[in-house]
Amino acid sequence: MQSKNKAAPTKAEKAHIEWIKDLPCGVCGTHGPSEAHELRQGEWFTSIPLCADCHRGSFNGIHGQQRIWKVLKLDEMAVLNLTVQQLLGR
Ligand SMILES: [Zn+2]
Ligand SMILES: [Zn+2]
Repeated sequence: MQSKNKAAPTKAEKAHIEWIKDLPCGVCGTHGPSEAHELRQGEWFTSIPLCADCHRGSFNGIHGQQRIWKVLKLDEMAVLNLTVQQLLGR
C-alpha cells in the first residue's frame, strides 16, 4: 500500500503505527486490530485507530459518507484527542 511519492515509515513511525493498530476503533469502539488512518498523509504520529467500517466503509467511513461520525458528533481531531489519551494510559 506504499505509493511512489510517499516516504516509507521510519522505524519509530512503524512502532507507533503498531501501537495505534492495537487500540480499539476510535469512533465505535470495536476491538482491534484496527487500521491506522493518517489525518495528514505521511504524518504517522497523528494517525488514529479505526475499524474497517469507520475507516473505509462507503456509508460510515471517514473516506465515505461519514454517517457514523456525524451521528456520534466526532471528527478526526476529537478521535486524535481520545487516541493520545489512550496511548498515555490516562
Ligand atoms: Zn469503528
Ligand atoms: Zn484513512
